[in-house]
Amino acid sequence: MARKKIVAGNWKMNMTPAQAKDLIETLKPLCGANTDKDVVFCVPFIDIPLAVEAVKGTNIKIGAQNLYFEEKGAYTGEIAPAMIKEAGCDYVIIGHSERRAYFGETNEIVNKKVLKAYEHDLVPIICVGETLEQREQGITEELVRLQTKIALKDVDAAKAEKAVIAYEPIWAIGTGKTATNEQAQEVCGWIRNVLAQVYGQETADKIRVQYGGSVNAGNAADLFAMPDIDGGLVGGASLKADFAAIVNA
Ligand code: PEP
Repeated sequence: MARKKIVAGNWKMNMTPAQAKDLIETLKPLCGANTDKDVVFCVPFIDIPLAVEAVKGTNIKIGAQNLYFEEKGAYTGEIAPAMIKEAGCDYVIIGHSERRAYFGETNEIVNKKVLKAYEHDLVPIICVGETLEQREQGITEELVRLQTKIALKDVDAAKAEKAVIAYEPIWAIGTGKTATNEQAQEVCGWIRNVLAQVYGQETADKIRVQYGGSVNAGNAADLFAMPDIDGGLVGGASLKADFAAIVNA
């Protein structure tokens, strides 16, 4: 089955509302009409309303970069899934390595957030990936399999087939050091394999697996051409016109 490729920009903690508006106005004419891929801008919370408004009439969807796993209440500084849904998000990044490293997100927390995202009809972009030390120790496959399995615990096949898994080797994020096409394909293949073990091959073949880590206009086409790589999660390059070239790669 042919999977529609998906390219998502992770803006991280960049772009004030005014800057966000400018960036979207720059990117819209360059990639807003692309229909052969799903295109997502994952923007800071404060930028969501204006981003949703700005992409109306284009093929671009808006995502958040996080959510909290409770409905509402005394969780100062957190954001409820219903809030980002009502604001117009279709996607949400969950378990980005920066959240795991700086904000203590465990696999179990990632799973709670994934379940919550589904409750609110948000597509989770679930990030998994190893550090350089883990790669050198030879535990990438076990680690990524475990991260994927725990993230999707209690998620049934009908829901899982909508998920997006982003394989992001931590050593390649923001470093300019991209995994080779073969390294990225190998891990994305392992991810598809564990999905097949859990859900069966038919469902696994529907789930999109992205690669992320220093994707740019020069390497995107070759990465996205690998059999188990269904697009990319893009950090640094999503903040410039380059992102459109990645989308159109
Ligand atoms: C990311 O943070 O998801 C990412 C892939 O960043 P970069 O493209 O800058 O490596």
